[in-house]
Amino acid sequence: MSDLAGRTALVTGAGRGIGAAIALGLAQAGADVAINYARSADAAAEVVAAIQALGRRAEAYQGDVSDYAQCEAMTASVLRDFGAVDILINNAGIASRGSAVVDTDPAEMERVVRTHAFGSFYVSQLIVPQMRAQPRGDVIMISSGAVLNNSARGGPYNMAKAAMEALAQTLAKEERPNGIHVNVVGPGLVDTEMGRRLVRATRGVQDIREIDATSPFGFVCQPEDIADMVVFLCSPQARYVTNQRIYVNGGGF
Ligand code: NAP
Repeated sequence: MSDLAGRTALVTGAGRGIGAAIALGLAQAGADVAINYARSADAAAEVVAAIQALGRRAEAYQGDVSDYAQCEAMTASVLRDFGAVDILINNAGIASRGSAVVDTDPAEMERVVRTHAFGSFYVSQLIVPQMRAQPRGDVIMISSGAVLNNSARGGPYNMAKAAMEALAQTLAKEERPNGIHVNVVGPGLVDTEMGRRLVRATRGVQDIREIDATSPFGFVCQPEDIADMVVFLCSPQARYVTNQRIYVNGGGF
């Protein structure tokens, strides 16, 4: 499939987990990809090598999305190297610690909301203006099915993802006249480091695949399942799709 040939993507938090699968999926569909990472330099280099092996262009860029100055430097480097970015995937994220609202450290609240919501705002603000000159633009926010439940002990994460979705819906309306599509993809539980840590902490499950049998369709969602939806939303087949929220959660629980 080469639906995305000639396009260039920036994926935040793409050294591992869902972001790495999205970066690979976009490259398999024909896009060149800029890989943002915060701490996982070696993992990001492996994703770059895997994309280059597909014959696509890839480079890795360090930058903490929760810090505006780092976002400025990171996006300037990407735009200098690639010339333009017409697909932005705001994926970078961290979990919250499982405290009740009354016990949540304000510093944790700030860190989590800053990463998901401010980070997506910073990178979108820095990338979207040049996207307007491209034939088509796509911004996708990786949210979470958590916003559908707002479960107890998830205050920072629930608030962060709600704000991220509000940003997406606002941006979708503002940028549609400029040919830019903005959509939200909300995973349920996914087999990544974040998902594995979550089931260890909340369900005492050591190996996440132990819960395949009780999961929708008999398996825990894989990062590639999220990547497939992202690739579809960026494809010509989704040319009339914007301002949508799609939860890739097996239908929920
Ligand atoms: P993960 O395996 O823990 O990976 C998190 C990624 O985010 C890493 O690549 C990490 O980069 C990056 N990151 C974290 N803080 C960052 C920062 N300040 N600046 C730049 N990058 C940062 O998690 P994941 O499961 O792949 O999660 C990806 C997204 O999916 C997140 O937004 C998460 O909320 C969402 N999600 C996940 C699940 C799930 O069950 N796994 C469910 C719903 C939604 P470094 O390693 O370089 O630090």
